[in-house]
Amino acid sequence: MKLLEGKVALITGATRGIGRAIATKFAEQGANIVFTYRQKNGTAEEVESSIEALGVKCKGYAADAADYSATEGVVKQVIADFGRIDILVNNAGITKDGLLMRMSEEQWDAVITTNLKSAFNFTRATVPIMAKQRCGSIINMSSVVGVSGNAGQCNYSASKAGLIGFAKSVAKEMGPRGIRVNCIAPGFIQTDMTSALSEEMREAWCKTIPLRRGGTPEDVANTALFLASDLSSYVTGQVINCCGGMNC
Ligand code: NAD
Repeated sequence: MKLLEGKVALITGATRGIGRAIATKFAEQGANIVFTYRQKNGTAEEVESSIEALGVKCKGYAADAADYSATEGVVKQVIADFGRIDILVNNAGITKDGLLMRMSEEQWDAVITTNLKSAFNFTRATVPIMAKQRCGSIINMSSVVGVSGNAGQCNYSASKAGLIGFAKSVAKEMGPRGIRVNCIAPGFIQTDMTSALSEEMREAWCKTIPLRRGGTPEDVANTALFLASDLSSYVTGQVINCCGGMNC
């Protein structure tokens, strides 16, 4: 028996990296996959066909996750196409790093709207559907820097800490309606987002990690699978660090 058989999972920003790994993992476990992406460039079609090859339905929707009305439109269309939403993964995220003393308003606003407001947009649009179903699992992709802070990333850390407060609050509001809300706080995961770091910096990071390696998107996807499935049916309002012990 597959862990997500017959469920519908909506994952934001899933054409690459952690989002794509989660979409693939959930599909392998029987979920039909809905994902969003920011711009049309042909990748979404390739993701759709690779996931459909796993024997489930899959559809990508182009929409900026930070845009409230576009999000409402996507969720309405998903219901028209798939009929329900059982799992929401608020994964879309960006960095625009810099020290506070040099940070522009544009850097701050872009990161807060893309990383934090997007989660409000999708959760706000999805929760009434999950409440009617009387079940649902929402997963916010936070970060270890949302738990502990990081010099040079005050905008990103604030957005990721905000996702934790948001998840804990919605968990309290919506628990009685059968909706669980949790966060994953990944550490240093090898994706396009971290590929800008030099080889020396990557090695230096890895030396500080008790498990002595960067994480893979699949490491995060396995944690997401636990939170999405009924294996975690009594877990809500929590943050799971997936960081090789970096934050222990
Ligand atoms: P990535 O840059 O490879 O992927 C991010 C995805 O989000 C991309 O597909 C991008 O197109 C999409 N996206 C960005 N802005 C969007 C928008 N406005 N609307 C729709 N989609 C949008 O990064 P990743 O490493 O796979 O990160 C995924 C999530 O995990 C992010 O929220 C990131 O902050 C978080 N995270 C990553 C790491 C890491 O080390 N890689 C660590 C902690 C947390």
